[in-house]
Parts: sequence; structure tokens; C-alpha cells
Amino acid sequence: MKQSIISGAVLCMGLWFCTSCNSDKVKVGVAMDILDGRWAKDREFIREKVAEMGGEAIFTVANNDAAQQALQVRQLIEQEGIDVLLIVPTNSAKAVDLVALAKKDGVKVIAYDRLINNADLDAYVSFDNVQVGRMQSEYLLSKVPTGNYLLLGGSPTDNNAKLFREGQIQGLKTAVADAKVQVIGNGWADNWSPQFAYEQTLQLLNEGKQIDAIIASNDRLATGAVKALTEKGVSYPVAIAGQDADAEACRRIAEGTQAMTVYKPVKDLAYSAAVAAVMLAEDKDVPNLNAKQNNGKKEVPSVLLSPVRVDEHNLIQTVIADDFLTKQAVYGET
Ligand code: BGC
Repeated sequence: MKQSIISGAVLCMGLWFCTSCNSDKVKVGVAMDILDGRWAKDREFIREKVAEMGGEAIFTVANNDAAQQALQVRQLIEQEGIDVLLIVPTNSAKAVDLVALAKKDGVKVIAYDRLINNADLDAYVSFDNVQVGRMQSEYLLSKVPTGNYLLLGGSPTDNNAKLFREGQIQGLKTAVADAKVQVIGNGWADNWSPQFAYEQTLQLLNEGKQIDAIIASNDRLATGAVKALTEKGVSYPVAIAGQDADAEACRRIAEGTQAMTVYKPVKDLAYSAAVAAVMLAEDKDVPNLNAKQNNGKKEVPSVLLSPVRVDEHNLIQTVIADDFLTKQAVYGET
């Protein structure tokens, strides 16, 4: 829409119509970080909703490389002529400059899933990420009220990782103060690497530590931890919480080797972001805003959705009922 070049036009009933340039089509640039796990679904749903609203979504994927993401965003702005940028920042701090670049060019910016602090964002669309962490620790405490807890944090450059940890700590606070729970590890995984989770778990086991509960900030980290527990042949029960409702994690929940995951209905997230993007591009009010998030620069108009606690009792009513995963993917049944 923004930088259309009228290369062909017809006059009809006194109005000019562009025939070859789609000049009225909103262009949404979507700068993704990665496509693993849930993110392929985010992409599919954003594409679907933007198209349904008559726009076009153009995607880039940075593969955990912030410098690459900077190049891609520049291309979206300068070559693709996007109207709106939806960005999943690889590095929240470095993305501040990308927001400034876009805004300078008249491109509206929405932080998708991960907040960018100290930037002039037009909107932020995410889940209540502190609640994600609190859900995990409260759930595990209800099963394992005393013992050694291992916290596996996400990428230190992802603002969400900090929010998840904040919620986890909030949930554990009283139990730690009462010396019922000991936190025996609380590191951060660069690029959300499952290898970190594997090594951290292995190291504690090699030191002879008993691990009673693991709060993994996502299911891929949980997978890394499970690999170490299996390798070491740990035979006592270890309660594990994760996030994202990955197929592998849901299978573990079904068979009893992971206690819970936090499911975030990414279809709702993607649809909300797509609607916000098209509305902003058309200078219309965004209908679905339900919160304000202070990012250090401004009160960012936000959509904050609620995460869902999933354990063996509600897999069917949540991830499967939503068509997020098939019954077969979880239970191996048809
Ligand atoms: C997302 C999680 C995801 C993680 C790693 C976070 O920002 O909120 O859902 O597991 O990134 O990709």
C-alpha cells in the first residue's frame, strides 16, 4: 500500500483503479526469530489472517542471529515497502534501533510475543508471561511441596525469559523463605538451547544432587533435561513443568514423564496481531486491545492473552480440542 508504483490503471466510472500493482493491499512485514516448535504455527496463522483481511504478509527468519534480523528488517522496510512491522525480536535490546528505523520511515511497529523495552512501539501482542511462570511453579509446588528445584531459564536476550523467571520466583517465594524448597540451579540458555538444559541437569546429577522438580521455561528445555535424566537412569520421580504444548512434551504428559506444560493458544495471538497490524496500517482503531504495558518509554497499547495450564487431565479439552495437536500426535491413536 505504502510504496506502490502505479504501472497500470484503468478509468472506470470516473475513478482510477490500479490493475497491476495491488496498491491498496496492506503489506505486513513479519520478522520472525526462528521457526522451530510453536513458531511455524504462528507464521501460518498470521499469514492466514492477514490474507483474509485483504493484506499480504512477508516473512523473514533470523535463525537466532540478531545481525541477520537487522538486515532483514532493513530489507522489509526499504525494498518491500511494508506498512507495518510485526517483530519477534531475537535480541530485545538490539531491536530498539530497528523500531526507530521503521518509525523513521513511517512504518508502524508491533512487538509480537516478545516486548521491546525503551522503544516507540505502536502495539504489543503477547500472553501474560509472568503468569506463565507462576502457573508452572504453583503447579509443581502442589505436587512437590518440598525438595530441590532446578530452574532452566530461556535466552537472556529475550524479555519473555525474564518475565517467566519473575513468575516462577513469585510462585516459589514462600516455599523458599520457609526453607521447604531449595533452588539448586537457575541458569539461562543462550538461544533457548536444549543443550544447555541437558548439560545443567547432567552436571547436577554428576555432583550427586537429587532433583525433585524442574521448571523448564519451555518444552524444548524440558526435553534437554529429560535426556540427561534418562541417560543417568534416574529412577525416582522428577516433576517437570514446561511451556508451549510441544507435541513431544504433550506425549510425555500423556505417559507421565512430564507433569505439565503451559499452552498458549498461538492462533488467538497470531489473529490478534494480524488484525492489529492491518488496522494500524489503515489508521483505524485496533479493536482488541485489552491492556497497557509500560516499556520504559511509553504505555504501549497491548493485547495480553491468558495462558492455559495443561496436565494429563485436560490434554483433550485444551490442545486437542483446539486442533493445536491431533489426538494421534499426543496418544499415538487414530
Ligand atoms: C516464547 C516461548 C518460546 C521461546 C523460545 C519465547 O519468547 O514466548 O513460547 O518457547 O521464546 O522460542
